[in-house]
Amino acid sequence: MNDFILRATDQDNHIRMFVAETKGLVEQARNYHTTSPVATAALGRLLTAGTMMGAMMKGDKDLLTLHMSGDGPIKTVLVTADSNANVKGYVGNNLIDIPLKENGKLDVSGAVGKGTLTVIKDLGMKEPYNGTIELVSGEVADDLTYYFASSEQTPSVVALGVLVDVDYSVKQSGGFILQLMPSCPEEKIQQIEKNLSVLPSVTNMLENGLGADGIVALVMKDLNPVIREKISTDYHCDCSKEKVEKALMTIGKKELKQLIVDGETVDMSCHFCNTHYEFSIIDVQNILNSL
Ligand code: ZN
Repeated sequence: MNDFILRATDQDNHIRMFVAETKGLVEQARNYHTTSPVATAALGRLLTAGTMMGAMMKGDKDLLTLHMSGDGPIKTVLVTADSNANVKGYVGNNLIDIPLKENGKLDVSGAVGKGTLTVIKDLGMKEPYNGTIELVSGEVADDLTYYFASSEQTPSVVALGVLVDVDYSVKQSGGFILQLMPSCPEEKIQQIEKNLSVLPSVTNMLENGLGADGIVALVMKDLNPVIREKISTDYHCDCSKEKVEKALMTIGKKELKQLIVDGETVDMSCHFCNTHYEFSIIDVQNILNSL
């Protein structure tokens, strides 16, 4: 996979911008979860935001979780990312099929419904940072824009787009997060507003072959953008039999004994990559003995 994030700023660091191309990792997510088109779009948008927000974190072990929870049929969209832009996620209902919106687009807000977005950042402190907002649209980008303004007091513009092909594969996926530093002068803000007012959608720009560098050039037109860093990003799940075993330990002694009585192999699968892990009766007995 060749997905990546560009980090760009203007010359005086008044404006910073992250732009991601994520077609490969969103297609990987679709393959793991066999998502319907609208579920691919919802998960793909949150994965794209997650990987950029992961890359924004500074500590090597910092972890980010984005959790959308709503009363729509998809129920949950959850993404985690680390500061090296490894990202993974899942949806509560992968097979939902709802009508397109009037403009012919996939109805992500209809899939998510009314609810909340929670952002958890584990920055190695005693308590993780935790911010929750009410969803303003359920389209993901607007919700994150609102989150940055209200919870982090950082004026931001978030744009995300996933285009699903007729065979349900991911045709285009990407997005950007632009943030204004407190020192940003008014004329630069006005230039950004001018640029954004004529900016095509992310999927339009990608379909027209623009790429991340082209998106930086358009969004920061007449602001002399400088690309500071190119970061590769990937769908990455670090699950293992040991980690799943820890989850099995938490179900309690009584339940483990029952599993032994039932006498069948226990099959557990990872939420993020659907890898199956089998535990024989002997394995379960060993887990029980270790408690
Ligand atoms: Zn996994």
